[in-house]
Amino acid sequence: MVWTNSKDTALRERAQAVIPNGMYGHQSVFMLPDDFPQFFSRGQGAYMWDVDGNRYLDFLCGYGPNLFGYAHADIDKAYSDRTAQGDTLTGPGAEMVELAEAMVGLVSHADWAMFCKNGTDATTMAMMIARNHTKKNTIVLAKGAYHGAAPWCTPLKGGVTAADRAHQVFYEYNDVESLEAAVREAGSDLAAIFASPIKHDTFVDQELPNPAYARRARELCDEHGALLIVDDVRAGLRLARDSSWSLVGVKPDLSSWGKAIANGHPISALLGAEAFRMAAATIYVTGSFWFSAAPMAAALATLKLVRETDYLERTIALGERLRAGLDESAARHGFGLRQTGPAQIPLIMFEDDPDAAKAYAWNNALIRRGVYMHPWHNMFICAAMTEADIDFALNVADDAFKTVREAGPLEPVAKLAILHAMVDA
Ligand SMILES: *Cc1c(COP(=O)(O)O)cnc(C)c1O
Repeated sequence: MVWTNSKDTALRERAQAVIPNGMYGHQSVFMLPDDFPQFFSRGQGAYMWDVDGNRYLDFLCGYGPNLFGYAHADIDKAYSDRTAQGDTLTGPGAEMVELAEAMVGLVSHADWAMFCKNGTDATTMAMMIARNHTKKNTIVLAKGAYHGAAPWCTPLKGGVTAADRAHQVFYEYNDVESLEAAVREAGSDLAAIFASPIKHDTFVDQELPNPAYARRARELCDEHGALLIVDDVRAGLRLARDSSWSLVGVKPDLSSWGKAIANGHPISALLGAEAFRMAAATIYVTGSFWFSAAPMAAALATLKLVRETDYLERTIALGERLRAGLDESAARHGFGLRQTGPAQIPLIMFEDDPDAAKAYAWNNALIRRGVYMHPWHNMFICAAMTEADIDFALNVADDAFKTVREAGPLEPVAKLAILHAMVDA
């Protein structure tokens, strides 16, 4: 089938009239290579189709929620069966207790669970519980880490006041001295240290947590009576069948979850240890849709697959196959790649590519050939992918490297400079 985007283009024009800037947040493809589609019609397994009918092997996985494949039969049946019985009632169903039991059973640091809709709800609740428990204000956060899009944490500054960002001190991820300095600056007002389970910031190489850094964060919290919060919204269930920091032997006090826990159905969670149960019980948090039963049924079906299948080992093996194949192919065409982070959460950037021109040209060539990747955001391997899918991606990637090589000198990516200016403003 010939790649076309006439329907997408027409929808974009209509969107300009009725949606600010045509789209907002991470869903705006304005900052992506030119041919990225904005609107999609369906997904099945590891693939999605745009409104023009072009098929993509999707390495963004909905930016995280797709863990077991789109339109997963068992998970979506659990969801639709519960929807047929009534979803958002005046109160929750038995699923709420079953799901809390399932999460507490899975995650070793957790003694209780609360459910909400977005990852931002969970990270915001974590901050509130830490402040409620300690009766202190200051939170220490890693520079550049994403914890959501509320005024206290959203990456751009529009509509945000200085008061929204008060009581925050920043450190460099994985840097013990900088963490200690931030804790010193917080002084006697330290309420919590936030950490991403891995460094998965945009535009920069990913980093696994240095165990010495993770252990020091735990010690500093213990010394100061502060809470250690691990934000597992993005990496949760993709690194371990437990808190991601179980891999470095560090137990957080609170952890936030979202994205993949119901394989795309809207639910997020905050998990906590016994000592913080009372602080959690005495903040007022709720939402019109937080008690809906169907996403909880979907989460229970997802967690069953987490417990009972080898999805994790398979996504790691597939990610390693992709990484090795891409390195080999890139080298053959004279490119060096920076492939960072865990293999199942890949980030792919180019060496000698300061303005991302190579990355944009390569990703644009991938899109035209049916592979959806991203030039500066981490991606995901989903458990619906097969070795044949990875080999399809590798063939397409090889052809795309050839296209970029033969294109010769590339124009700098002007839209990326605009984006950087917005972040730094
Ligand atoms: C996506 C994300 C959030 C916010 O989750 P939403 O559901 O988009 O509100 C918070 N933390 C991390 C690490 C994330 O990746």
